[in-house]
Amino acid sequence: MVTGMVLTTMPISEYDKRITILTKERGKITAFARGARRPNSQLLAATNPFSFGEFELFEGKSSYNVSKANIHNYFRDLAMDVDAAYMGFYFLEFAEYFCQENSDEKEMLKLLYQSLRALESPAFSNRLVRAVFELKAMAINGEGPSMFACMHCRKTEELIYFSVKRGGMFCPACVKKIHKFHEREVSVRDFMKIHESTRYAMQYIISTPVEKLFSFQLSEEVLEELQKIMRDYLHTYVRHGFKSLQIIDELMLK
Ligand SMILES: [Zn+2]
Repeated sequence: MVTGMVLTTMPISEYDKRITILTKERGKITAFARGARRPNSQLLAATNPFSFGEFELFEGKSSYNVSKANIHNYFRDLAMDVDAAYMGFYFLEFAEYFCQENSDEKEMLKLLYQSLRALESPAFSNRLVRAVFELKAMAINGEGPSMFACMHCRKTEELIYFSVKRGGMFCPACVKKIHKFHEREVSVRDFMKIHESTRYAMQYIISTPVEKLFSFQLSEEVLEELQKIMRDYLHTYVRHGFKSLQIIDELMLK
């Protein structure tokens, strides 16, 4: 028995499915659900993406098989809202890409769950939920930006400049020094002056436990800056074309 969330579902032969589940106990696993596409199967809805609950497994020759499921949350409200649903699919794809079998993915599973709940809640915009999810996911994977001290002199005051390329904050004195020493290699765009509120928000997202993450709002100006930073940051450090993101970008163009 494992607790987890279905990330992907693939139809196999006439009546079966192959699914990936992000589990508390074993990281990301692949499992077969025999008969799960039969209309009266107990596993029909349980093996759809977003389904969260307990899955009873038995080990076959080369993979797991799901025999039973007890679903606590299907996230059905997501299906009612196209934008939120695609954002949710992006989170699943992100987790699928980052998570591994037999590694501890408890924090990612928690983040996924809380972020989907926040998408369902009218209190939070999808744009805010996405930026929070992306930054926290990077931090959980040990690839988050360094936000609490200048990356050059370790000073904790006057943290004004953010560098995507260098992955964190810098004080004005160090930015000046770096410009002097590497005049030709450093472009002005390497360091961007960011709002204090944006830095606070990023520090909060990185340091707050996942359970308490969705408890704040941002002004439009700060949210836009955070979105820009995360776009550049993921572009630099993830380098993976998420299919769901292409669809989201197309939807946003409308
Ligand atoms: Zn410094």
